[in-house]
Formats: sequence, C-alpha cells, structure tokens
Amino acid sequence: ASSKLLLLCTLSLSGGGVVAYSEAQVDASKTSVQVNEKDCKKKRVVVLGTGWAGISFLKDLDVSAYDVQVVSPRNYFAFTPLLPSVTCGTVEARSIVEPVRNIIKKRNGEIQFWEAECMKIDAANKKLFCRYTVENNLVGNDDFSLEYDYLVIAVGAQVNTFNTPGVLENCFFLKEVEDAQKIRRSVIDCFEKAVLPGLSEEERRINLHFVIVGGGPTGVEFAAELHDFVQEDLINLYPSVKDLVKITVIQSGDHILNMFDERISSFAEQKFRRDGIEVQTGSRVISVSDKEITMKLKAKGEICSVPHGLVVWSTGVETRPFVKDFMGQIGQANRRVLATDEWLRVKGCEDVYALGDCATINQRKVMSKHLRDVTDLMKDSEGNYIDKVDIEGFKLALCQADSQVKNLPATAQVAAQQGAYLSKCFNRKYKWKDNPEGPRRFRGSGRHQFHPFQYKHLGQFAPLGGEQAAAELPGDWVSMGRSTQWLWYSVYASKQVSWRTRVLVVSDWTRRFIFGRDSSRI
Ligand code: FAD
Repeated sequence: ASSKLLLLCTLSLSGGGVVAYSEAQVDASKTSVQVNEKDCKKKRVVVLGTGWAGISFLKDLDVSAYDVQVVSPRNYFAFTPLLPSVTCGTVEARSIVEPVRNIIKKRNGEIQFWEAECMKIDAANKKLFCRYTVENNLVGNDDFSLEYDYLVIAVGAQVNTFNTPGVLENCFFLKEVEDAQKIRRSVIDCFEKAVLPGLSEEERRINLHFVIVGGGPTGVEFAAELHDFVQEDLINLYPSVKDLVKITVIQSGDHILNMFDERISSFAEQKFRRDGIEVQTGSRVISVSDKEITMKLKAKGEICSVPHGLVVWSTGVETRPFVKDFMGQIGQANRRVLATDEWLRVKGCEDVYALGDCATINQRKVMSKHLRDVTDLMKDSEGNYIDKVDIEGFKLALCQADSQVKNLPATAQVAAQQGAYLSKCFNRKYKWKDNPEGPRRFRGSGRHQFHPFQYKHLGQFAPLGGEQAAAELPGDWVSMGRSTQWLWYSVYASKQVSWRTRVLVVSDWTRRFIFGRDSSRI
C-alpha cells in the first residue's frame, strides 16, 4: 500500500500522465486518469528528441496552449556543426551544449522533460513506452508509458554501417558529443603510443595513420581539423614522429564533398593535396579489423588492405529501430525513412508529425504542387491558357520545381526550419479552435488551414582547415578561402542557441588562437 501511495505521489508531483506499466499498472493508470482529467482542457503534445528539430519546435510553441512533454535520452541540445571542432579540442564539448532544462526555464517552465528513450510507439492507442537509459543503481522503475494527443517525432537518425563487418567494433563515429570526446582521447593515445620506446618505425607509422571513411562534409571537416591539430600543436609536442603522421580520406564516389558545387569539391581536393591529406576516391570499404581496413578499388576491382591507428566512420545515417517498428504499424514498412506530407504529418497515422533527419516529405505531392505552380505560368490573370508562353520563364520554373522535389538534405537547417514551421501550425491550430469565427486566417479546416512547409536554403559551409573554408550561398554563389572562414566564424557564433554557449564558443576560439589546443588526455 505504501509503495502504491509513493507511486501516486510521484506521478502527481511529476506533472501527471506518466503511467508505470509494471505490476502496479491498475492503480497507476487510475492515477493517470485523475491527473489527465485535471489537465483535460489542454491537449497533450509529446515531443521525442531534443535535437535541432525538437528544440526549434519547443522554442516557438505557445506552451500555455498545450500540455507539453518532452522525452529524450540527452538532457541537452548539442550544436552538431561544431562537433568536428570538439574532436581536436578547438572548442570544448561543454561549450556547444545547452541543458534542456535551461531552455525550459526560459519558457516559464511550462514544459515537462523526461530523460528517457522512447522504445516503442503504440499508434493505435496513442501511447509511448519509454525507458530511463542511464545504467544506475537508483531506486524506482526505469520503464514508463505516456499517452499523447499529438506526437512530434524528432529523433534524428543513427549512424549507418551498411552492415560492413567490423565497423561497429573497430571504428569511431562522429554523431554525438560523446563520440567527439572519444575521438579526442584516442588521437592523443595514438601519439603517446607512437613515441613509446621499443617500437619500430613501421609500428609508429601505423599508429599514426588516421583513416576517415566518407568524404562528405563531416568526414572532410574532421580531416581538416585533425590536420590543423597535428600541424599547429602535436608536431611541436611529439617532434620525433612528426614525419610519420598520415591522414587518409576514403570515398566511394569520384569526388569528396560531391553534394556541393563542383568548384568547392575541386578546391577541397586541391587543398587536401597541398596539405598532404591523401584522398582515395572510388574505394568501397568492405571490412575493418582492429589492425587493418580492407577496401575494394572500384575501377580495378582489386581488394587491398591498409593498416591503421584509428578509423572514423562517417558515411551516412539510417532510421532508428523503434521508428522502423512504428513504420511497420502504419503501413510504411517498405520505406527507408518515415514519410510525411507537406504539412509534416506522418502518412497513415492521425495526429503524428515527424521532422528533421528521421523524416522525408512525400515526393509525389510536392511534385504535383510544383507542377501546378509551373502550369500557372501558362495562364493569364483570368486563368485562361495563353498562346505565347514565356519559354525561358517556363524552363526556369521547371528547373526550380525539379530542384524542389529532390529529397531535402539531412541538415540542421532543414530540421530547424521544420520545427519552427510546425510550432506555428500548432499555435494557429489552437487559436482557431478557440476562435472559429475569428480572423480569416484561422478559419478553414484540415490541412488547408496551413501553408505547406517550404524549405528556404540559406547556404552551406565546408571548413577546410588552415583558416580556409568554402561556402555555397543562396543564388548559386560560391565563396572560398580565408574570408569565407571569417564568415563561418560569424555565422556559427550567431547561430548558437544561447548567449552562454555563444560566449563559451568564442572564448574557446580565442584561447586556441593564443595558447593552441590542449593535448592532455582527460
Ligand atoms: P538530432 O539533432 O540528431 O536530434 C535527435 C534527438 O533525438 C536527440 O536529442 C536524441 O537524443 C533524441 N533521441 C534519439 N533517440 C531517441 C529516442 N528513442 N527517444 C527519444 N529521443 C531520442 N547540419 C548542418 O546544417 N550544418 C552543418 O554544418 C552540420 N554539421 C554536422 C556535423 C556533424 C558531425 C553531424 C553529426 C551533423 C551535422 N549536421 C549539420 C547535420 C545535423 O546535425 C542534423 O541534420 C540535425 O542534427 C538533424 O536534427 P534532428 O533534430 O532531426 O536530429
């Protein structure tokens, strides 16, 4: 009886609605109903994830209109574009994270946060099953369930190993803050090991061979950071092995940074060549052991193995297993990524939205919308087809429509814009409910109440080391060199989520300019 009472108190204190699904389920669910009744005026929005999409949604949402609950295994937001800088100590890990509870506090604390992982979504009963993730010996149940009226899935994606043997066991990844910290320690380990007495030159050389698999923005940025770390700091501290360090980037395609403009891709390749970073294109890694990395050279069909000291795997992402399970429940089992419509509503499931890296906007509908826009160009102001079409304008519009229907990139920019868009829809949905006769913009019903989501591309950066960067800016503008690096510094400082992280990041950059990077293995 006392344990039931304790459970009841805990549930009431924690804001209600958390339903333990252990043996005490019957009593716990009664508690949940009572608490739900108390909050029944507000619809419950559960947000999964505190990354770019989730936090951007929470920052703009009218939290007084909903009972907002957030579930995420990380109690912080991480500014992922600076993760490569954490691997070499250019910025410290704590400088790029903002505690979720700081963000909640700024929203008058009207958001409940649960540090847990969603294990399963029960779409039919609008219920989530979650688990506290950190291993501990604390008292209490780690599992709980949570009901929702609206669910916002913003859980990002996980690294994709393409089932390549040995990758999970022998490679480092660069997806989370912990990954970056592990890489930082391991790079120092490689140097410390390489200078131990009794090693042959070949052994030292192997320990100092750093391999990066994947020539996308993350892999390239890490290679550039590592090169700067070695050249600016480590060779002064480990002079005896300074000529033995080698950095190799392995890329399956023909060029690195192939999602960028060709000019950027070749600028990056030339710069890497000058810096002595080997770029091995047209090679597919087929296995990784603790000593060697084996790959197939596409052109010759040959298989070769290279010994390594450290491998960083950065080849792309895939859907999380519990999202795959959810996709199976709602008839999307044959898809790779969770599909939504242009309003970010998950297809085949009521009241569930998905945004950021875990979702993709359904192509067919977007295509038809843009084709409609293009066809409109052929009509006059009264809607009649005109005889003489502006061919150039028509071609341009077709081109734009085509570029719009390409999959949106898995970037922070897309995720943040989607979060902001969805929060506006939620705010408007609430206002319309209370004020159906109000301003015209709140009327209407269903999805047509809102404009579909439209992505606005604001540009993309690729830092290349040595105080040089490349950028693809809106309007097909390409900028490369030192001035672009300064643009990168100012954009990334301004994009920080809080003044606290902004000050920390800028002071880390200043510290590095003055004192260099810290090479202690902490
Ligand atoms: P994330 O930001 O990954 O957030 C996912 C959230 O879900 C996290 O809080 C996670 O803890 C939580 N979560 C995970 N599993 C669960 C679960 N089971 N239950 C509940 N919550 C869960 N993009 C750019 O635009 N520019 C860049 O320069 C750039 N650089 C990058 C550098 C690196 C090293 C990396 C890894 C990515 C970079 N990106 C960049 C991509 C960008 O980080 C992602 O596109 C963006 O993070 C996607 O946002 P998201 O909210 O979908 O996912």
